[in-house]
Order: sequence, then structure tokens, then C-alpha cells
Amino acid sequence: MAEVISVVNPATETLIKEIPVDDGAAIASKVKRARAAQPAWAATPLSERIEAIKNFRNLLVEQADSLAATLTAETGKPITQAKNEILGTPLRIDFFIETVAKVITPQQVYQEPWQAIPGTGDLEEVIAYEPLGVIANISAWNYPYFVGANVFIPALLTGNAVVYKPSEIATMTGLAIASLLHKAGIPPDIFTPIIGTGLAGATLLKQPIDGVFFTGSYPTGQSIATAVAPKLIKLQLELGGKDPAYVCNDVDVPSVAAGLADGAFYNNGQSCCAVERIYVHTDSYEPFIEKFVQTVQGFKLGDPTHPETYLGPLSRKPQVSILKQQLQDAIAKGAQLLCGGQPLDRPGWYFAPTVLTDVTPEMTVMREETFGPVIGIQRVSDDAEAVALMNDTAYGLTAAVYSSKRERAVKILEQVSSGSAYWNCCDRVSPRLPWTGRGQSGIGSTLSTLGISTFLQPRGWHLKKC
Ligand code: NAD
Repeated sequence: MAEVISVVNPATETLIKEIPVDDGAAIASKVKRARAAQPAWAATPLSERIEAIKNFRNLLVEQADSLAATLTAETGKPITQAKNEILGTPLRIDFFIETVAKVITPQQVYQEPWQAIPGTGDLEEVIAYEPLGVIANISAWNYPYFVGANVFIPALLTGNAVVYKPSEIATMTGLAIASLLHKAGIPPDIFTPIIGTGLAGATLLKQPIDGVFFTGSYPTGQSIATAVAPKLIKLQLELGGKDPAYVCNDVDVPSVAAGLADGAFYNNGQSCCAVERIYVHTDSYEPFIEKFVQTVQGFKLGDPTHPETYLGPLSRKPQVSILKQQLQDAIAKGAQLLCGGQPLDRPGWYFAPTVLTDVTPEMTVMREETFGPVIGIQRVSDDAEAVALMNDTAYGLTAAVYSSKRERAVKILEQVSSGSAYWNCCDRVSPRLPWTGRGQSGIGSTLSTLGISTFLQPRGWHLKKC
């Protein structure tokens, strides 16, 4: 019997459907077809590639309600947040459409008039950009539209074929994305979904591919880097984080506390750039904690299909045990539990939003990615202590500083190692800025012009008239 993925609703623990997985032969055949089709796609005028992507963008908007319902059913993401993600994706698509021509256009970097060296003729030097070829896009489940579109939209616009392995937690969404792209005019062999677990991903890596663009956890990223190293192909890794925020003693504490509660708990804390550690200047500490806990206790938790629900279930059952372990470790080492602290006694993988204080850097909750509705808050005595603690991590995705003074915040952020630096904001992504990580948060950039050129390989043309 063919192997299947069982799609289970995290809110009800009921089976939604079973989807057959691709075996090794199917994966090999899909990559072979993608390779055969890619040159014609690369030769298709850019205007036609853009037209297909515009159609996809419009289909996303038209079908946002049903796509959101599917995403909510299989991941437990609250329906309003699912819709926000789907309707936020066109902003990224628009940036790529508007910017791709500028990035892909050959640049003449030198021209020598024939008079300069008599008898040698004109010399022209041009940098041209060519697609990588066939790329593997192995994706995560927590924001399948955002993290998917960050890769497959610029990859397709620049003339690559994409073999797309959605997460097994978001398989129905992955298939919906493929179906919309095909309906929009992307040839089926140019965007091919591969259905399966990590095994299918590992099988894909063994095929003749020209690049790997991965979004997921650090341990998986590390094993992918090891697996593809001998191929000497382009590798990009968008990995996890343990993102810190520091609250100075010169802010409007209640509004900052409410904003950071959202940054920590949006999507149930299942965001790569969720705030996972909070450091608060001792002068602001007590009022901050009071407002933070009040905000968290006000979050509406429950049925993710209800439009007012802010916190749904966790998307993966094993994460419940990870959260419990981090809490046990923290409490055993002296942390105080201000609210939450356990799974909810109801069907579904619900976990009560949890706030810990008196945390220390030795606790796993302040070291390892939590990826759930649990936050540790630590008191600090000054900016120097905050900088040292913010940097005390193997990760480096984002870092936030809240201060009424830009110079103070920038000075602190300049000393912190992270791909994104936030002053008075957090958990924010812009299509115009590179999304990139330091340390265990990854290699390379999506978004911005860098997130387009990453799908291209340069070629140096030396052109000499005889
Ligand atoms: P994951 O690492 O468990 O899985 C990601 C993908 O890799 C899935 O499609 C999975 O099937 C596949 N996979 C697993 N093992 C593989 C192997 N050996 N070879 C090839 N493919 C394999 O991650 P996840 O649980 O889907 O996503 C959550 C993680 O992603 C978190 O760590 C989060 O921080 C990170 N993330 C990062 C970003 C970013 O932009 N930096 C964005 C979203 C999520």
C-alpha cells in the first residue's frame, strides 16, 4: 500500500484526510521533467513570467477565504491570522514584480573606446545574470505562504524551475499553492510539488539539482548542509531564532508591554522571529510585568476558526512536551510562573500562554528555540548588561530595542549580532529589506534585491571588436 501523510486537525485531533507521498522514483522523475522544461522557461520573456505571477497574486486574493480555511484546518492557525498571511503575501509579490527587471538586466561595467589602445578595437565588459537552473525549495509550515513566496516567486521570475517540498504539516496548503500557480500559467514541470516528510526532502537532495533553498529548524538545516556539501551547489538556509528584545527605562511602558506581548505570542509564538527573550531595565520592570501579564491574560484562546481567536492550538503535538520540558527546567532552576504553565484540558494541542520571570541564561527556555506560547522575562540593571545577554545565544535572526531615543537604541543594536535590527518594533518583515540570519539562524538572504539575485548566477562577458 502506498505511504500516506495523515493530515490531522490540531484543534480537534481528528483526521482530515490522507495524502499519498511521492516515492523515490516519483521524485526522480519530477526533477528530470523540471530539468527538461527549465531552458524554455528561462527563454520565456520576463513580461510573460511576470504575467503568470500576477495571475497567481490575484488568485490568492480572490480565494483568500477558502485558502485560509485550509491553512487553519491543518495548522490550527487562527483564521484571522491565516487570512492576514495570505493577503499579506501579495505585498511581497508586488515588490518582486517591480524589482526583478532591475536585478536581472545585464550591466555594462566597462567600455573602452578604440582610440585608447590603437589597433586593439573596442572592449566591452558586461555582467549578465542567468538562472541557477532547477532549485529545491524545502519549506516550513508556520508561514507557508510567506516563506514559500520568499523563495518560489523570485526563483520563478528569474527563470528557474522549482521543485517544492512543503512541510508535511502544511501539505494541503502546499498542494493549493501548486494548483494556483499552475492555474495562473506556470507550467506544471516548472513548479512541481513533492509530497512527503523529511525522507522525501532528503531524497530530493540526492537528485541532480542546482540549488537548495531551505526554511526550517537549525538541526534540519545542518543535516541538509552536510548532505549537499559534496554537490558544491548554492545553499541557502533560513533557520530558527531565539530573538531578544530589550526595554529601556525611557519608554511608555504599557504600550511597549502590549506590543511585545503580541510579538511573543502572535501565531502562538510559532514564528521564526517571535520575541523569545525579554530583558527589561530595572526602572521599568514592575509596571512592564503588570501590563504584559494583563495583556497575555486578555488574549482570546480557543477555536481557531472563530475570527476573534488570537491563540489557537499548537500545530504539532510533540511541541507540547518540549514546552513542558522547558518549563520544568526553568522552574527547577528558580523561575517564577506568573501565568499559564500547562496544556489545556480539552481536545487539541492547546497550551496556556505562559509568562516566566526570574529566568537566567542557563535555563533552556532562554537558550533553545521555544516555538510556542512561553516567554521568559529578565530584569537588567543597564544597557551594557542587556547587550551581553542579548548576544548570549547561538542564534541571530532579529533583535529589538525599545527606547524613546533613536541614538541610544541604535548604539545598543550596533553591538548585537542579528540579521534584522528593530527600534521600537518587533516581529516585522519588509519585502524591501534582506531577511537574513547570523550564527545558527542561517546563511544567505531572502527578500530585498539580494533575495532576487540569490537565484541568479553571474557571468562575466569580455567582448572585443576585432
Ligand atoms: P523542520 O526543520 O522540522 O522542517 C522543515 C522542512 O524540512 C520540512 O518540509 C521537512 O519535511 C523537511 N525536512 C526534515 N528533515 C529533512 C531532511 N533530512 N532533509 C531534507 N528535508 C528535511 O522545520 P519546521 O518545523 O517545518 O519549521 C519550524 C522551524 O523553521 C523553526 O525553527 C523556525 O524558526 C524556522 N523558520 C525559519 C524562518 C526564517 O525565515 N528564518 C521562517 C519560518 C520558520
